Amino acid sequence: MSLTIGVLALQGDFAEHCAALRRLGVPAREVRTVRDLDGVAGLIIPGGESTTIGRLLERFDLVEPIRAFARTGRPIWGTCAGLIVLAREVDPETRARHQPLLGLLDITVRRNAFGSQRESFECDLLVEPLGPPPLRAVFIRAPVVSVVGPGVEVLARLPDGRPVAVRAGNVIGTAFHPELTEDLRFHAWFCSLAEAGNVRAA
Ligand code: GLN
Repeated sequence: MSLTIGVLALQGDFAEHCAALRRLGVPAREVRTVRDLDGVAGLIIPGGESTTIGRLLERFDLVEPIRAFARTGRPIWGTCAGLIVLAREVDPETRARHQPLLGLLDITVRRNAFGSQRESFECDLLVEPLGPPPLRAVFIRAPVVSVVGPGVEVLARLPDGRPVAVRAGNVIGTAFHPELTEDLRFHAWFCSLAEAGNVRAA
């Protein structure tokens, strides 16, 4: 694939996303400035600490450029903290005092939804666009989607029904971390969306 995928590299597990893309043979570019967004066909916002990532987005003047990037139709995918940063709202009980959000997904998320007892866990999830077999989903101090707005599609749910993967057009969020497993299907699917947009790297 000749497309380049950008991975926001301000904080969090961006290196794991870049490695997953490279294993697929897709060139990955670490994005730290507006210029780095030039010509990338899709953008991944990694897991990490959503408050920190949001504040760094402000500090590096990336909030409006990423919103503009989304308006071009190029896909954006946030994993875990990335899902939180993409959301329109964070449950007030779990929202940090200053928690900048991109507001590109019409959802409310609840941060650290599994409490300290189940800080991290794995389970098999059926993820709609990937079909069977289920994906091994890794959750680390993960959020859940507590309110799904109209126009937002749920791509995967926990066995108890809570949504953990959502999509609104070209904006996708997962509460889990496909970049931490050997299963590259989610990255491959995201790259196919980027390819459909067909934006060539600068
Ligand atoms: N708990 C983190 C947050 O709220 C997200 C954890 C993660 O990205 N693995 O930002």
